[in-house]
Amino acid sequence: MAGSFFRVACQDCENEQVVFGKAASEVNCAVCGTTIARPTGGDAEFTGSVVETVEAR
Ligand SMILES: [Zn+2]
Repeated sequence: MAGSFFRVACQDCENEQVVFGKAASEVNCAVCGTTIARPTGGDAEFTGSVVETVEAR
């Protein structure tokens, strides 16, 4: 399993960003800076809403 990417929508501004499913550091929205994913040691916890899963190529 190489891990998947997820398209996550920011809850504040609805900007969509592709985030690695096992992100090792906090991922912030590129537009407004809100945290949209945080690391948990395994799969990242998304604070935004996942729009779709993007399979790793
Ligand atoms: Zn945002």
